[in-house]
Order: sequence, then C-alpha cells, then structure tokens
Amino acid sequence: MSKFCPFCGEELVESAKFCKNCGEKLEVNTFKEDNRINPTQGYNPPQIKKSHNLALIAGYICAFLIPIFGIIIGIYLVSRKDSDTAKRHGKYVIAVSFFITFLSFLAQIRFM
Ligand SMILES: [Zn+2]
Repeated sequence: MSKFCPFCGEELVESAKFCKNCGEKLEVNTFKEDNRINPTQGYNPPQIKKSHNLALIAGYICAFLIPIFGIIIGIYLVSRKDSDTAKRHGKYVIAVSFFITFLSFLAQIRFM
C-alpha cells in the first residue's frame, strides 16, 4: 500500500506530502504523472496525412514554377503507400510538371 515519488521514484508512505528523497511536493502527483506520460504518446498518424497535404500543395506550386521539383515531389507522392490521395495527386503533379516543362521548351525554341 505504498506510493512512489513521481519525480525520483523513491518509495514513500501513503500519508507523505513531500518526498523524503528529493523534497518535491506530492499532492498533485497523479496529474503530474499523466503529463509525463502524454508527450511520448503524442505521435499520432493524422500528422503524417497533414504532411502529405503540404507535399501536395508544394507539388502543384513547383509543377508550375519549378517543374523539375514538381516531378521530384510527384514521384515522392506516388511512392506513398499509406495514402491513395497522395498517390493520385502525385500523378497529376508529375503530369502538370511535364506539361509545364514542355511549354517552357516550346517558349525557349520560339525565343531563339
Ligand atoms: Zn522524490
């Protein structure tokens, strides 16, 4: 029936208000223990999807502005196995990138 100090792990008597080892106050020890566990559990899958969305947007922007980066990001998106949306848009990004590259080649030929 003993409890443990959340700060140093020292075994304490049930009625203790302060840790006899490190001197920390113990009245909210259950809350503090929860707070300590939460940050390690904070890695959740939705953040990965969010990064895909960022890559999608970056892919389309690059497809128009810097087609070679659009192709690279498009290949990255197509290679994602965990997101069908990323795969589908990756193909579009690559297609747009090639189209813009083709147009810029045409423009260069005209100006030469
Ligand atoms: Zn302690």
